Formats: sequence, C-alpha cells, structure tokens
Amino acid sequence: MSINKILNLLWRERCMGCAYPFPLNRYGFCRECEGRIISLESHIDAEHFHIFKYDGPVKDAIHRLKYNRKKYYGKRFALLLNDFIINNKIDNFDVIVPVPLHWKKEFSRGFNQCAIISFYLSKLLKKRYVAGVVIKSKNTPSQTAMGKKERAENVKGSFTVKKECLIRGRKILLIDDVYTSGATTEEVKKVLLRSGAERVIVLTIART
Ligand SMILES: [Zn+2]
Repeated sequence: MSINKILNLLWRERCMGCAYPFPLNRYGFCRECEGRIISLESHIDAEHFHIFKYDGPVKDAIHRLKYNRKKYYGKRFALLLNDFIINNKIDNFDVIVPVPLHWKKEFSRGFNQCAIISFYLSKLLKKRYVAGVVIKSKNTPSQTAMGKKERAENVKGSFTVKKECLIRGRKILLIDDVYTSGATTEEVKKVLLRSGAERVIVLTIART
C-alpha cells in the first residue's frame, strides 16, 4: 500500500456507527451500518416524531457523541434531522429549542449534545435557535434503572423557563437525542406551554 493510500485511510472520516474509515453516506454512516439502522419513520401524532430505533449504529453514534466527545457528530445529526423535517413536511414551528442539561452535567460533559444539534439544524433550516430559554434547575438522579412512573416523578418540577418573552406565542421544535419513557421531553413541553408557547413539536433522533 502506498504512503498516500495509508495517509488517506488515516485521515478519512470514520463511520459514526463502527468507527472504521469506510466510505460514508451523507450522514456519516458506512454502508454496513446503514443497513443495520432501524428506521421508525412513524410518529405518535402530529407533535411527536422519532426517527430511529435506539439500537445498533445509531445507539453507538449517540454514545460516541455524548461520552467520547465527538462533537462534530452533532453536525451530521443535524443534517439527518434537517432531511427528516423536509421529507416529512414538518414546518409548523418558528423556534428550535434543545432539551437542556443541568449545568453540572453540561460542565462535566463539556457540552450539551442537543444544543449542538439544534444550533446546526437552525442554520440548515434558517430558523431561530434559542439557547437558555429553558434550563434544568434541579439535578435529578439518573433515570436508567427507573420505570415510566418513577421517571415522570423524577423530572417533575426540574425545568424552569428563563426567557418567557422568547417563547410566548411561539411554535417550538423541541430537540432531544433519545426518547425513552418521554418523561423528560413531556416535562419540558409542559413548562414551555405553561409559559405561553403556542405549540411544541418533539423531535428525537431515536426511541428505545
Ligand atoms: Zn460503520
């Protein structure tokens, strides 16, 4: 193998699913991973959309974004959401809001993955992105081992709207990475509506 070929392989962007330097599709997945992704392409109603099943390459990619600091994956996920929004004609919103993390969690991770995705998505869609409009004011325990009811109890009252004027009368697209019981997104949605938002559409990359 020539030096150029080796260098090419070393510098080639890696697949978000398997981390190998295979040729990638538009969203950063290799052909094999693309074939293993389970697309849900369904929604509960006109206000809840989930794109993939939280499994395989999508699960690995979200994990790498969050815990291996692969922040640039945020840009690829934004492109994916952008195409989903266009293909599904989801256009009844004017502001993009990410599900927030508690500041301690954001500080230890170094970033909020949903905020990165939302920021790039707003650029692609030419819609307004507002950060800090809703914050997680209570640092709740991890929900991993909790059931649906416990999760809802756990997040109750843990979000606060900070800049009401930015959301009053607005139609919001709320972005989250993973939808498990829906406790978190439903709680954020509730506080946004209570603070005067006209409607809140929930869009998540993956659903468990
Ligand atoms: Zn792959």
